[in-house]
Amino acid sequence: MKIIMLGAPGAGKGTQAKMIAERYQIPHVSTGDIFRANIKNGTELGKQAKEYMDKGLLVPDELTVKILLDRVAQPDCKNGYVLDGFPRTIPQAEVLDEALTKLNESIDYAVNVEVPDENIVKRMSGRRACLKCGATYHIEHIPPKQEGICDTCGSELVLRDDDKPETVQNRLKVYHEQTQPLIDFYTGKGVLKTVDGTQPMEKVFEDITSILG
Ligand code: ADP
Ligand code: AMP
Repeated sequence: MKIIMLGAPGAGKGTQAKMIAERYQIPHVSTGDIFRANIKNGTELGKQAKEYMDKGLLVPDELTVKILLDRVAQPDCKNGYVLDGFPRTIPQAEVLDEALTKLNESIDYAVNVEVPDENIVKRMSGRRACLKCGATYHIEHIPPKQEGICDTCGSELVLRDDDKPETVQNRLKVYHEQTQPLIDFYTGKGVLKTVDGTQPMEKVFEDITSILG
């Protein structure tokens, strides 16, 4: 099963993608996580990506598309995957579509996690991320067992540089301009499914699993 998660930054794509990956035993592929790992390791890609990420801008398609196509060509993606944070532009969606068509494959579901902008800034300022294993928490809604420490790997949790309120406003603007058009793109392909992302995380997941079967 090949799934795409759509939604504004902070809508809960990553939270749901991790749960989907576990339930359906498919890899969770997050371009944001790949960039953050590269930044942490000080790679050239990481240095280039950070320039854009810190400003709340998208990393250019030339850099993003290649890492995604390389990732989904790995053997563990043979039976499907859940994409989180990709595609974010129409050209990215078109490249993915072409690559899949060549393999006689297609996306099964594009799950749109809908959350109004008013809720987003609050969610982002409360988000805490583990840069080691990619786990995500919220200080009020989804707190870790021990404050500031990742439940999964015991590393320290951080407020992402791009989750500061002024950057979040930029990211929302970029989302509406460049990413929201994907909703029409995947509606046109007949695979778009929308869920109400303002509900508690377990209820959002229930709605998603009733769609995926
Ligand atoms: P995205 O991947 O779409 O940017 P995340 O999955 O990282 O979003 O979620 C953003 C923040 O909101 C995180 O702090 C997360 O713990 C929290 N969150 C996710 N889902 C919910 C929910 N259903 N209700 C409340 N908070 C949530
Ligand atoms: P995320 O972890 O999905 O919120 O992504 C964090 C940041 O990484 C984004 O704000 C972008 O700067 C960058 N990024 C992640 N995925 C993409 C993508 N598909 N295209 C362009 N930039 C991306």
